[in-house]
Amino acid sequence: MFGPPGAGKGTQAKIITETRGWPQLSTGDMLRSAIAAGSELGRKVEAILAKGDLVSDEIVIGIIAERLDKPDCAKGAVFDGFPRTIPQAEALDRLLAGRGKKIELVIELKVDDAILLKRVEQRIAEGHSRPDDNPETLKNRLAVYYKNTAPLLAYYKGQKKLVTIDGMAPIDSVTKAIAKAIDMAGKKGWFG
Ligand code: ADP
Repeated sequence: MFGPPGAGKGTQAKIITETRGWPQLSTGDMLRSAIAAGSELGRKVEAILAKGDLVSDEIVIGIIAERLDKPDCAKGAVFDGFPRTIPQAEALDRLLAGRGKKIELVIELKVDDAILLKRVEQRIAEGHSRPDDNPETLKNRLAVYYKNTAPLLAYYKGQKKLVTIDGMAPIDSVTKAIAKAIDMAGKKGWFG
C-alpha cells in the first residue's frame, strides 16, 4: 500500500487483512508499539517519529525481516508504510526472493495535499490523532514522502506492478477498486 501520510493506507490494509487473511505489516505500527513498550528500539526511534523523519533503513529492514519469518506470512502479506526508500524496496525484493516470494501488486492511493491536511485536522478534532499528527509535522512527513518515497512509484511502475487508485473517493469505493485490482492481479497469475 502506497501513498502519502493520511491517504488511507492503514484503513484499507486492515480491510484487505480481514477479507483476504494476509497480515498487515505496518512499520509505523511496529515502531509505535516499540515506543509504547519502552524498548531500546523504541527509545532510539521516538524523537525521529515525533519529527516525522524517516527511521534508518537498517532498523526498518531488520524489523520487517524478522516479521516475515512468522508463520502467518506464509501465504502473503500487506505492506503498509514499507518500503519507503529505494534501498528498502531493494532489500525487500531480496528478502522475498530468499523466501521464494515477490511483490505481486503495488497500490498507490492518490490524495491531494490540501485534503490530507484536512484529514489530519479532523483526526485532531475527533481526538484520535497520534503525536505526529499536527500540521507542522505533517508538512515534514509530506516533504519526506515526496523526496524519498514517491520515487518508488517509478521503481514499481517499471516492474509493471503499480495500480493507482483515487484515494479521495469514499472509503467503500476505494475498497472496491482495491479488491478489483487484487482480483485482476490474481487472474493474471501474479498470485501463483
Ligand atoms: P504515515 O504514513 O501516516 O505518516 P506511518 O504510521 O506509516 O505513518 O509512519 C509513521 C512514522 O514512522 C514515519 O513518519 C517514520 O518516522 C516512521 N516510519 C514508518 N515506516 C518507516 C519506514 N519504512 N522507513 C522509515 N521510517 C518509517
